[in-house]
Amino acid sequence: MYLKRNLSKNLTTFHSLRFPYKNSIRSAHRYSVTVGIGGNIGDVKRRFEHLLVSLKRDSRIKLKETSLILKNPPFGFVNQDDFFNSIMVLKVNMQPHAFLSYLMRIEKKFARKRSFANAPRTLDLDILFFDNRNINTSKLSVPHPAWSERESVLIPLAGMKR
Ligand code: ADP
Ligand code: MG
Repeated sequence: MYLKRNLSKNLTTFHSLRFPYKNSIRSAHRYSVTVGIGGNIGDVKRRFEHLLVSLKRDSRIKLKETSLILKNPPFGFVNQDDFFNSIMVLKVNMQPHAFLSYLMRIEKKFARKRSFANAPRTLDLDILFFDNRNINTSKLSVPHPAWSERESVLIPLAGMKR
């Protein structure tokens, strides 16, 4: 069940039991990571729900918070379906590159196939922030370079600020 709201002609928000969600129980995991979730193939909202169920069972991470889900138009390659985006905050013990590999394994599990830049995808998991670290390697840029320019990040994030 989703509560649906149109923000504008192109932007729609969806609220459910797990989006947004907040768990204030303290955990022993060391680092706080903000992850952007996206997808535009098939039933994306349902996939997000499955993702949360599987993450809640995983002792390597602790799920702290999720945002609402935003439906928004694609950019770059625009001839494709609208995207659904959300944000989650996790606590982890992994270091950034290990955590990136972990996210890529989850994408694979959810049947992600890499084709071309900005192509349609079942599930995209991006590291937006990793504590307050700055990382610039060939595999990883943190904070995510485009986070402050994308509605798909800014709108879900705005609802999480306290
Ligand atoms: P995009 O998310 O840019 O549409 P991909 O999900 O296919 O494209 O990611 C391409 C590459 O981006 C990954 O192989 C990864 O090494 C790199 N990358 C760089 N910075 C990040 C980040 N902060 N989060 C996730 N991936 C990143
Ligand atoms: Mg990505």
